[in-house]
Amino acid sequence: MSKEKIIIANWKMKISLSESKQLAQDLIDPLKEIKGIEIAVAPNFLSVCDVADILKDTSLKICSQDAFWEQQGAYTGEISPQLLKEAGCEFIIIGHSERRKFMMENYEMIHKKTKLVLETEGVTPVVCIGENWDERKTDRRDFVLFDQLQQALGGLKFGQGDRIIVAYEPIWAIGSGTAIEPAEAEYAHKVIRLTLNDMFGKDVVDENFQIIYGGSINSSNVVGFLGLENIDGMLVGGASLNAEEFAKVIKSFNK
Ligand code: PEP
Repeated sequence: MSKEKIIIANWKMKISLSESKQLAQDLIDPLKEIKGIEIAVAPNFLSVCDVADILKDTSLKICSQDAFWEQQGAYTGEISPQLLKEAGCEFIIIGHSERRKFMMENYEMIHKKTKLVLETEGVTPVVCIGENWDERKTDRRDFVLFDQLQQALGGLKFGQGDRIIVAYEPIWAIGSGTAIEPAEAEYAHKVIRLTLNDMFGKDVVDENFQIIYGGSINSSNVVGFLGLENIDGMLVGGASLNAEEFAKVIKSFNK
């Protein structure tokens, strides 16, 4: 499995179809020289095909913001991993805290989605976990991470070449404008890695897993996260909506 660092842009539902196309176009030039780092963008569902088409001759990859837990059937309004793959997606975000909050996504749904994405050849799940402010303040973070990993991934099997990304996103840092201290992120990533080692064995984790950080990363604070042992990349929201700013984040991370 590629051990390059990965940076994923989460555009959420913040920009229109035409703005998504423009942003994809605007990223091509500033990112064309970047090597040794994997980059993906996650447009809204409606924009995936157009953005994939615009980026088809570049090294930039496409990520979906969600997927359903069945491949096909009478599920009005849903989109399956297979359809997303057909549309050009190579990554699929699962269990983002905004979906847990606004769409009432629960542990069972997240587990089923993760399992199906893993079973779909050619797409990699990006499973989001993270504690809220109350949990952090009352020192329950480690247990919350342990519990969310167990619920999302418990019982799953990983074969050679299977790849899975865990995104640590402290809910209280998302969209706040202030990332957490890099040392705190490194500690949480260590907890995640050790939990995964306990669940699946160190060899499987070293081979199949990457752990990335998300929560108010921008070009000014990203430098603090460079070179940390357990941070394999970034999930970037707000700062990815401006091509110049996102390119700066990538260039700093790539140094
Ligand atoms: C996110 O919601 O995945 C995210 C990282 O957002 P932001 O960078 O805006 O905090």
